[in-house]
Amino acid sequence: MKKLVLICLVLLSLLIVLPTLAYAPGDTVTVDVSVNSKDANFAVLTYTYDTAVLAYDSASCSTGQASAGKFSLASDNVLNGKVGTITFKVLDDAKEGTYEIAISASDVFASGEGDDEPVATLTASVSPSSISVESSASEPENPDKPDDPKPDDPADPGEDEPCAHEKTVEKVVKEAKCEEAGEKQLVCGKCGEVVKTEEIPALSHDFKWKTVKEATAEAEGLRQSVCSRCGKVVK
Ligand SMILES: [Zn+2]
Ligand SMILES: [Zn+2]
Repeated sequence: MKKLVLICLVLLSLLIVLPTLAYAPGDTVTVDVSVNSKDANFAVLTYTYDTAVLAYDSASCSTGQASAGKFSLASDNVLNGKVGTITFKVLDDAKEGTYEIAISASDVFASGEGDDEPVATLTASVSPSSISVESSASEPENPDKPDDPKPDDPADPGEDEPCAHEKTVEKVVKEAKCEEAGEKQLVCGKCGEVVKTEEIPALSHDFKWKTVKEATAEAEGLRQSVCSRCGKVVK
């Protein structure tokens, strides 16, 4: 019984330690942005981070707009829960250590709120709110090492890095016919994965007049409209 309690305590302490995630230079850090409010419909969130360690990459917002350093939230509903994400890159020359990512809210108000009415309240949070940077496994003293992995080098696919499918080749799987759509695929030239499947629209007939029987002095001739591709005749 005592053993079980001990295991529980160890697990609990692990959970407490976990929020500080470890990253290496070149890693992507994704931070969730959440808000908590009972009345606010509008808010501006400003976030700060150590620019010697992290470089802003992108941000997305489900209710409003996101940009470098700022979220402008606007919603018909009360703002509550996750509102977006921010993506950072750990700089190549980032020093080891633990770094905070901070966020604060301003210009908080509820819809229909007048100037003299009480101001709505909102708190913002980021997860993780701090990250730790560990030096990469490769020796930093020897940067010219030929097998030094570079994330942007297309010749080095890396072991865990998913393929970005940067160069794609078009491949026709099924040719389109007059009345039948075809199919083509965009295939990654590096890993061979099918990135996209697209329909090739049906070509429609290419009708041309064709004389079947020449007219004579006595009888009328006959000409037909015939598709040059599939031979279909218009009756
Ligand atoms: Zn690929
Ligand atoms: Zn045809």
